[in-house]
Amino acid sequence: MSILFALFIGLAIGSFLNVLIVRIPKGESVAFPASHCPKCGNALKWWHNIPLLSWVFLQGKCAYCQSPISRIYPVVELLTGLVFATLAMKLGLGAEWFVTGLVFSLLLALSVIDFEYYAVPDSLNFTALGLALLMPLFDFGWDWAMGDLKAFSFYQEALLGRFKDAAIMAAAFFLLGYAVKKLVKKDALGEADIIIAATMGAMLGFPLVLMAIYVAAVLAIVPAVAARDHMVPFVPFLAMGTWIVYIFADTFTRWMGMLYG
Ligand SMILES: [Zn+2]
Repeated sequence: MSILFALFIGLAIGSFLNVLIVRIPKGESVAFPASHCPKCGNALKWWHNIPLLSWVFLQGKCAYCQSPISRIYPVVELLTGLVFATLAMKLGLGAEWFVTGLVFSLLLALSVIDFEYYAVPDSLNFTALGLALLMPLFDFGWDWAMGDLKAFSFYQEALLGRFKDAAIMAAAFFLLGYAVKKLVKKDALGEADIIIAATMGAMLGFPLVLMAIYVAAVLAIVPAVAARDHMVPFVPFLAMGTWIVYIFADTFTRWMGMLYG
């Protein structure tokens, strides 16, 4: 039951992500005006706006002008729904579930925007980092509300750990970018990648975050080779690596234990 609830919450948030993805790169307000067709400008009725279902019963076309609606919308909604449902299975419902879901939703939005525009808006990027860093505070608030407060040092250590791991990752990516720039005279890692690396550090901690970078690099090899001289957006791969390692954290930890234990 809670998984189904999580799925519906995720679908609704995915619907809002689509608004962010369409409007933020253009510098438009995310609140006004209400959702409208980008072609004919007609405002959408609420039944045109139901995540996933509307796209299916409208057969992927605007109800007014019949111009095609991008497949990206239902895909983003479905992926966000699955993210929240999967996290509910792993974490149960609560502040950690919801905030973790928001961080991965933002990483998904950043991935789509990077893929379409080769640029990542700072507003979404810093929001993801902020949520990832402050997760223990939300956790604290939730546990307090539930009357299930752990020792204060638990939240304190978690908070400090996240800031430390984020700072190390940001510094490492900054130095790596600097070194690559000196060596091959090309901008390999931008400011956006540094912020995402910090978010990854906060979400996964060491040594799992290194595993996520490794997974991201492996996933990016084929597209990077296939694209040759074209730019390959790296954010989607970093996001996928983070997601895979986060969900299978126990398995990755066991593997690393076998290697070094
Ligand atoms: Zn239209």
